[in-house]
Amino acid sequence: MSMHYTETKQLANGVHMPRFGLGVYKMTDSKQTVEAIRYALEQGYRAVDTAAIYENETETGEAIRASGISRNELFITSKVWNTDQGYDQTLRAFETSLKKLGLDYLDLYLTHWPVSETYVDTYRAIERLYEEKLIRVPGVSNHHIHHLEKISVTANIAPMVNQVELHPLLTQVPLREYCSEHEIAVTSWSPLAKGQLLDNPVLTEIGKHHEKTAAQVIIRWHLQNDLIVIPKSVTPERILENSQIGDFTLTAEEMKIIDELNRNERTGTDPDKIG
Ligand code: NDP
Repeated sequence: MSMHYTETKQLANGVHMPRFGLGVYKMTDSKQTVEAIRYALEQGYRAVDTAAIYENETETGEAIRASGISRNELFITSKVWNTDQGYDQTLRAFETSLKKLGLDYLDLYLTHWPVSETYVDTYRAIERLYEEKLIRVPGVSNHHIHHLEKISVTANIAPMVNQVELHPLLTQVPLREYCSEHEIAVTSWSPLAKGQLLDNPVLTEIGKHHEKTAAQVIIRWHLQNDLIVIPKSVTPERILENSQIGDFTLTAEEMKIIDELNRNERTGTDPDKIG
């Protein structure tokens, strides 16, 4: 029996998004990228998170086709890069991404970062793609509460996903509460803090009780917090390990201990410093 985690989260429009998927940032070697994504799909992964700037949409498309899995079983996300933002530019960037992926629709399309002059218009274009049924879910990434509020002034359809940096060192509680109140699902990027937390003694100790690794404990913490999680790995054993998180549950006390690791510490850029 596959131990792969197959739960989904129902989004504001009823679409079911896999709670767990593969991030593909920094997968740059073409052959290795296709192999890693293909392997993940073979192991039961159904969601892939790419972006125009990752320069691996072509490889993502190739791996999808090679997997033989039908399109409607997959959940594919991409993002419009900062220099392509604005209304018309976003529509064009979307077309390029779709072509590279070799697909005729995306499940989720995101504004990658809230570039201050353009992010409102970028989201208007994403709304249009949704209305035209070229994407199943409209969303954003790296949006603080104030960005979401600004969008809500003009949007007819609110974003349904916000993908942000989130891990035990940066738990983003106020943003999570805001998103929950507004039916915006939160996806955690760099969910493993880019690997920084994997020898953390608190996490390895909790792992020992469950016969799990620190990475599995962290992924489970995201899921039990109602977050969507997209760890990246090109290493087959880790791709498999990260998906084997359906067979244990962290206690309320363990969840609290992990919450207390929070330092409000980013590994990436603060969205307010973009543009
Ligand atoms: P992650 O937190 O997922 O960490 C990835 C690193 O951890 C890699 O070095 C990987 O190594 C290593 N790793 C993964 N699993 C394990 C394991 N079980 N044991 C030990 N090491 C492990 O970082 P990312 O920054 O890649 O974030 C995940 C995804 O989030 C990205 O791929 C991307 O899709 C998305 N993202 C989105 C951003 C945005 O602005 N919207 C920004 C950044 C990321 P290896 O691959 O060598 O196995």
